[in-house]
Amino acid sequence: MPASPMTAPRARLKTLALACSALAAVLAITAGHALAQVKTADVIIHGGTIYTGADQPPFVGDVALLGDKIVYVGPSAKGFTAKRTIEAKGMVVAPGLIDAHTHPDTYIRSADPAVRVNAPWLAQGVSTIIIGVDGGGTPDVKDDQAKLEQQKIGTNVVSYVGFGAIRTRVLQNDARAPTPEELERMKAMVAKGMCEGAVGFSTGLFYAPQSFAKTEEVIALAKEAAKRGGIYDTHQRDESDYTIGVLNSVKETIRIGREAGMPVHFAHLKALGIDVQGQAPAIVDLINQARASGMEVNADQYPWLASGSSLEASLVPRWAVDGGYAAMIKRFDDPATMDKIRMEMRENLRRRGGPDAILLTAFDVPWSGKTLTAMAKEWNVEPIEAAVRILRQARTKGGIASFNMAEPDVELIMKQPWVVTSSDGSDGHPRQYATMPEKYLVYVKQKHVIDLANFIRHSTGLTADIFKLDRRGYLKPGYFADVVVFDPNTYAPKADYVHPRELSVGVQELFVNGEAAIDMGKITGALPGRGLKHMPTPGTCA
Ligand SMILES: [Zn+2]
Repeated sequence: MPASPMTAPRARLKTLALACSALAAVLAITAGHALAQVKTADVIIHGGTIYTGADQPPFVGDVALLGDKIVYVGPSAKGFTAKRTIEAKGMVVAPGLIDAHTHPDTYIRSADPAVRVNAPWLAQGVSTIIIGVDGGGTPDVKDDQAKLEQQKIGTNVVSYVGFGAIRTRVLQNDARAPTPEELERMKAMVAKGMCEGAVGFSTGLFYAPQSFAKTEEVIALAKEAAKRGGIYDTHQRDESDYTIGVLNSVKETIRIGREAGMPVHFAHLKALGIDVQGQAPAIVDLINQARASGMEVNADQYPWLASGSSLEASLVPRWAVDGGYAAMIKRFDDPATMDKIRMEMRENLRRRGGPDAILLTAFDVPWSGKTLTAMAKEWNVEPIEAAVRILRQARTKGGIASFNMAEPDVELIMKQPWVVTSSDGSDGHPRQYATMPEKYLVYVKQKHVIDLANFIRHSTGLTADIFKLDRRGYLKPGYFADVVVFDPNTYAPKADYVHPRELSVGVQELFVNGEAAIDMGKITGALPGRGLKHMPTPGTCA
């Protein structure tokens, strides 16, 4: 533009504007013919080691961003001018990481925007999280995502419609089968969720009241998601030997996918508890067989030896929670029933490796950060009595980290080409704050179980493929500008089981939809996250 348009007469300004837009049109046409024209970008990330998220070796080069999109990925962006250039020599430049299984409500649903930035995930380099897992996802996907977008959040979210949410609405917490009419109502809710953008149908058949459902009920509902292009995601009925055993549970999951006609995704795949440790090879075999038969089957996994759960879910038999928490407490009050419950709780505690293997993780209670053994000693009671005492006091204060996975199982599962990273991040377990760098530090740098390229591919592109995310998970022109820049020498977890709420370190830049959520190592406070919607199969929604 010529200088000083303020002094120019109005008519001349108009002519100039016309001339400018004509020139712009010519430029656009010549750019289309790939002539060397200067193109604009907001940001150029220069000279980093680029992992595109695809199954290809890294290379040194540039990434350019404009608005919410990536406009260049390659050896040199010298054809671009940018408002800002970030020197990334020696840094890893990758798609923003995607966390396949999360419990982030404390953060993304907080009233405080400083909490809604979702710092635990940002600091790990995560730009997209999957919510509504374990059967928890509301069928009101559209309203829920609209609310999150309106309040604004730091990371993108992808939603499931969940079995637990639906079954509780129709059958409350009861241990019975639905009537045909109730089943129809539940089917309509799955359809609604899918039509509003859910990526699939999630279940948590381990948990009451979902555990009360027979396989056929789950298949009938899963079909509603299958029709609309959804996937079946499950915290399976048994990851241990509580009921049907982990191998039968894997078979049940595959059967649900096969009969409903949809891809299957195992949440946080593992062999849990001393009785099934060492069964990862058999689990992997079953899944490989299903894949060889042409089914789409995959899984996510967190890189920790302790699971995160609650005293109720891990120790109390399911029949004792029929009807919900109040009904359970009533059964505790009946001495004969309590004797039976206590016997089964003892067996479940053995399965979980005993009271030393149970770390109590709820915040702001006398038992915070202590093992069940320590708490029993302090109260001078048996470990089971200590657990019952906690269960009686408050339903939400029974969080635990339960040390019950074996290292060889974790490593074997991690190496499978169909396993992606998830945190299962929930309050009180360091996995919420540290999963991604933990996997990098322990399994890439220290143990060499996988390499850096594998870590990135299995936390970005492969994950985006499984969840059918539109233009996410890869560094490619035209894709959304979710990009992380981290220092491979300093990227590390800070949280551990004793201090689970420490932010991870080493992420220098994190762009979410083109906005810097982390800049020069600091969380900016920006809230650029969006609700990502899956497009249902055309013609399947009214
Ligand atoms: Zn789960």
